[in-house]
Amino acid sequence: MEHQRKRNLVGAGPEEIRDILAGLEEPGYRARQIYAGIYARRLRSWDAFTELGKPLRERLKGRFSLEYPPVLRVFESKDGTRRFLFELSPGQRIEAVFIPEEKRDTVCISTQVGCAVGCLFCATGRLPMQRNLTTGEIVGQVLALEEDRAAAAKRLNVVIMGMGEPLLNYDNVMRAIRLMADGGGMSVSPRRITLSTAGVVPGILALAAEPVVPNLAISLNATTDAVRDTLVPINKKWNIDALLGACRGFPLESRRRITFEYVLIGGVNDSPIDAHRLAKLLKGMRKKVNLIPLNAADSISLKPPDPERVLQFQKILIDRHITANIRRSRGADIAAACGMLAAQ
Ligand code: SAH
Ligand code: SF4
Repeated sequence: MEHQRKRNLVGAGPEEIRDILAGLEEPGYRARQIYAGIYARRLRSWDAFTELGKPLRERLKGRFSLEYPPVLRVFESKDGTRRFLFELSPGQRIEAVFIPEEKRDTVCISTQVGCAVGCLFCATGRLPMQRNLTTGEIVGQVLALEEDRAAAAKRLNVVIMGMGEPLLNYDNVMRAIRLMADGGGMSVSPRRITLSTAGVVPGILALAAEPVVPNLAISLNATTDAVRDTLVPINKKWNIDALLGACRGFPLESRRRITFEYVLIGGVNDSPIDAHRLAKLLKGMRKKVNLIPLNAADSISLKPPDPERVLQFQKILIDRHITANIRRSRGADIAAACGMLAAQ
């Protein structure tokens, strides 16, 4: 028995926990206590579950563990941003980023070890795709980062924008979102969860039909298929037209909008013509645009845009009554900014 790995209950859903407890011939309320202990009270050891009584605790201890992804190192930026490097197993590293702000904290989490999409401008895309993260590894990043959270009274936003393409790990990501959003557990409102995709159209269509729907962010990054084909290779499979069609059909609750992320790359997609074309493409949608000046990384040969070009691009959108923010880079000094996550 000693050699048998214990099953990790971080990531288990309410039904799984209920089935496990039923298998141990324990009453249903025990399952609810355990679920709340893991996700709402965030207990880290069976000994902390005092309400279960010693005999049950001992039985659980022998078979089940409560593990968050193991932290290898934490890098802290001058601006307070913290980059967590996790080592899931030798050679399998992922990252998550904790971004404190005045009124809220944001955690940015990963969904895969590496990424198969291979966008030209993204450091993660230069890594080989190794595997999908499990549900427990996805929610475990939030739990591990929050353990470190000084002012828990602040609102928490979760952005699924770290390493990997979330819609290519659809089932585990959806299970993780349901766990995060559950009011009896982690209690992160779906309005405060944002999933970012490079444009996996079947995934967007499936997401639209889910009972719990996060905010949707689309990494658009180009205004013509010719340019997008080179920057975001899955555009060859699902082009701009197909992608925006799926976005137009995406059900939005009142006051919700789709976010379009646009990484500005010097001389590639940052011209006034691009800005006008972008405004036209997005016509009629409830949206906002996040302009992200390219963050340089050693593995990337592209160059950031001139600052004036960024402002000019923004102005063209604003003049067309489009909300357009320039995303201030956080944590660039510790390689924690967008597109810099390379598991180092
Ligand atoms: N795979 C998903 C989520 C992770 S990438 C996606 O592509 O949406 C998160 C965001 O970082 C995307 O909007 C992407 O366009 C942006 N990004 C990637 N590399 C970047 C870089 N070098 N500089 C700035 N932003 C980058
Ligand atoms: Fe993957 Fe997103 Fe990076 Fe593209 S931008 S390589 S989809 S993580």
